[in-house]
Amino acid sequence: MPTRWYNLVPDLPMPPPPPLNPATLLPLVAEDLESIFPRSLIEQEMSLEKYIAIPKEVLEVYKLWRPTPLYRARRLEKLLDTPARIYYKYEGVSPVGSHKPNTAVPQAWYNAQAGVKKLTTETGAGQWGASLAFACKLFDMEASGVRASYDSKPYRRMLMELWGGTVHPSPSTVTQAGRDILAKDPNTPGSLGIAISEAVEVAASDPTAKYALGSVLSHVLLHQTVIGEEALQQLAMVGETPDLVIGCTGGGSNFGGLAFPLLREKMAGNMNPIIRAVEPEACPSLTRGVYAYDFGDTAGLTPLLKMHTLGAQFIPDPIHAGGLRYHGMSPLISHVKELGLIEAVAVPQVDCFKAALQFSQTEGIVPAPEPTHALAEAIKEALKCRETGEGKVILTALCGHGLLDLPAYDKFIHGALEDIPLPSAKLDAAFASLPSRSSTSL
Ligand SMILES: *Cc1c(COP(=O)(O)O)cnc(C)c1O
Repeated sequence: MPTRWYNLVPDLPMPPPPPLNPATLLPLVAEDLESIFPRSLIEQEMSLEKYIAIPKEVLEVYKLWRPTPLYRARRLEKLLDTPARIYYKYEGVSPVGSHKPNTAVPQAWYNAQAGVKKLTTETGAGQWGASLAFACKLFDMEASGVRASYDSKPYRRMLMELWGGTVHPSPSTVTQAGRDILAKDPNTPGSLGIAISEAVEVAASDPTAKYALGSVLSHVLLHQTVIGEEALQQLAMVGETPDLVIGCTGGGSNFGGLAFPLLREKMAGNMNPIIRAVEPEACPSLTRGVYAYDFGDTAGLTPLLKMHTLGAQFIPDPIHAGGLRYHGMSPLISHVKELGLIEAVAVPQVDCFKAALQFSQTEGIVPAPEPTHALAEAIKEALKCRETGEGKVILTALCGHGLLDLPAYDKFIHGALEDIPLPSAKLDAAFASLPSRSSTSL
């Protein structure tokens, strides 16, 4: 198991544009974040150290499910009749069934060290809320979440409660942000952006509480690099170097976690993989968004982040990959995309479920709806190899299992799952509310 996390920032040819304080439009300083994050995590967020040691208490917990397996998808390869070799790094073996505990555990631990009693958060499909509830329980803290897909996916709410967390549907009536949105649209399907506003509002108004984010920020991606560090060691054990690295992106944490250590090796000239992010067509921040300063949440309570965004007012259609329904993207992923170090594509959900079925019927594991995006792209590439005869090595992140997402599969199998087109007019409307459209200094 790796004993340190990898920070990509010092290895980049230039650092990412800094987050801004929305009141002053000046680069954020640590004090700006102290009402919502502990000092240790703020330091990690801004760190220029290439490696950060994983605390031994966190390593002890990681041992419950790490190292995670790297599998070769031989049966899938056979089905596709491809000379490509497909490897997947499987994060579904964690207690929650996804990669999220890789950062929930250190975030809870650092907060506990700082004397914090309660963590608030948002969650989409419930993976993050459940992970944080689990992690808080381990370190004797309280977890409170607001949930964007409360009704459609009940089991992870039950998990959150099982691990001692409390959950509200979002938008909720317990926050001003939630009440404002409900007053405007009582039937809103909610979004991660709205749920973040609510969780930040609760944390900022309670001195014993802090806020924890499950993706997007650099310290979250930092914690997730255990995935890529392990994958590098595992690939070396079988003498493989990847030609293509593929991951799904919601806020970018599982993708960054797998890809950044590989990007380090690529920049050092040790390998030369194409690194590709895959997002849903219904929420295509990297492929159809603008690269601009925007809020991380709908109510505008967070710092301004320079990222690929669909606009903080954008409410994605309620696709099944709840974890990918975020209007923005990790600023660090956005920056490496701008530097030309990674590529991005968008895929429709029906293609994803088709790929997921091929995968489950050969490899056995039922993928969470989010990584089916990466699988669809991996399968497409493997089929191209069948045409060209190339034996490419494809590495993908299977960042979670879908055993609690079976209703989505049920719909797909019975023909009730559809693609929802995203008209440009809907995007233009959301772009119009970007802060950079109203402020000439941005
Ligand atoms: C949360 C989640 C995602 C999306 O978040 P990223 O930060 O982009 O990884 C993807 N897959 C699963 C299984 C998730 O739980």
